[in-house]
Amino acid sequence: MTAVPPGSDWPDVVTVQRAPELERELAGRLGLGSFPPVFGVTDLIELRRAYYRRTAPVTPGVEQRRRMDAGRAAHLQILRLLGDPEYREVRVHGDGVVGEIDLLKETPTELKTTREIPEVATLHAVRPGYFEQLAMYCALVGKRSARLIVTTAPGPDAQAVVLACEFASTDRIWAEMRQRSERLRESLARRDPSGLPRCAWRDRGCEYQSAKVCACTGEEPEPSRGLVRELERAVPQEAETAALTEGLRALPSEGPWVASRFRDLLYPRRAYFERTSPEVGPEGAEPAAGSGARQELFRTLRAMLEAGPSGELSRRWAALGEPTEPVGCFRGEPYVIKTSRAWSPALEAGLARDQPQYVREVALRAGSLGGRSGLLIVGYERAASVPEGLRVFRVEFASAPELVGLVTRKCSELRSAIATQRPEELPACPGWMHEACPYRERCGCGTSVAGRT
Ligand code: SF4
Repeated sequence: MTAVPPGSDWPDVVTVQRAPELERELAGRLGLGSFPPVFGVTDLIELRRAYYRRTAPVTPGVEQRRRMDAGRAAHLQILRLLGDPEYREVRVHGDGVVGEIDLLKETPTELKTTREIPEVATLHAVRPGYFEQLAMYCALVGKRSARLIVTTAPGPDAQAVVLACEFASTDRIWAEMRQRSERLRESLARRDPSGLPRCAWRDRGCEYQSAKVCACTGEEPEPSRGLVRELERAVPQEAETAALTEGLRALPSEGPWVASRFRDLLYPRRAYFERTSPEVGPEGAEPAAGSGARQELFRTLRAMLEAGPSGELSRRWAALGEPTEPVGCFRGEPYVIKTSRAWSPALEAGLARDQPQYVREVALRAGSLGGRSGLLIVGYERAASVPEGLRVFRVEFASAPELVGLVTRKCSELRSAIATQRPEELPACPGWMHEACPYRERCGCGTSVAGRT
């Protein structure tokens, strides 16, 4: 256990305790028959993208991320209109497939936001993925009926349509899901995507294509339509559509948020430039930084968490509205996963001193939820095996209000620097970020170490 004295950025005290039982429990999941077990429902809609997501991950460009952030914020705002928190974004899984259902009461509801809603009669043909996703949610919860909601962004011109959908057979849907899982698993094992169906996003903004990491030609086989064929009916619900449209048009505009990710609060000076000079940053997606081994270890740690029972993992959202990024929780507590190339795993006594950014990240997530503790899960790349290199720490802070204040203060410092165009008022990023930073000419942080966090 260790304590950190007060600092400009810190709550008064943090305690860090290793959780060896949890380490053993998570490591034990490695030996489960189907480990690594988990494909997401969205993986099974786009097998080729799922393949590249695992073998050649990319990071989106600044503009792309801005669009994604705006879309996520609108999605969340509409979800809040549709249902109470306990029904929203419910995680379900079975037989190696995990899904996060936008709304789950008796039956699942999937919400899609789009710039323009296609004709209902052609929806299954032009957006088959909407129904494929819904079909798989039905299979995961053992129901044949579900709702599909398609909307534009909230605002005075918002449009919506609510469809009551019925699928013929969850058994056949499961058979298709298992077949797709198997194809993806085999391709990953062979490290060869040939034979996987054509990607629907090719030439339509596919990030793997724009980052030039995929080997797709557009000549790949047609995707299966087995799941859409299970759709028996999709009936527009006039009264629900009218009520939702009215609700969307009346929604007050939110934000503008300055922090979309927790990273924006950890490295606010970088966030400043990404907001104010996005043209300097990468335009399109780029291959993700970090070695393949590091990404592999990260996925393994993530899969260990995913392999637990339904309900163990959840997503929650910052009480203040920002950062707009969801907070992943394990058994109700926020968690952060990190990988490290340190030669030996950290001891709890030195963690807060040696890896303050890890602890700070837990603090921001806990504070955004109004809590005062979280889990830090670290995998050490150089260890002889994953279990040997796994460390789980429970990080606890003295005061929840102080953490809430930390998040509020960080957001308002970033907001104020953007308003006054004074990035120098924000702490400089750590030295290791400088060399690869596209904003370093404007920022000038390299000339001085003053203000480094
Ligand atoms: S130049 Fe340095 S301080 Fe400025 S944004 Fe980049 S890494 Fe951060």
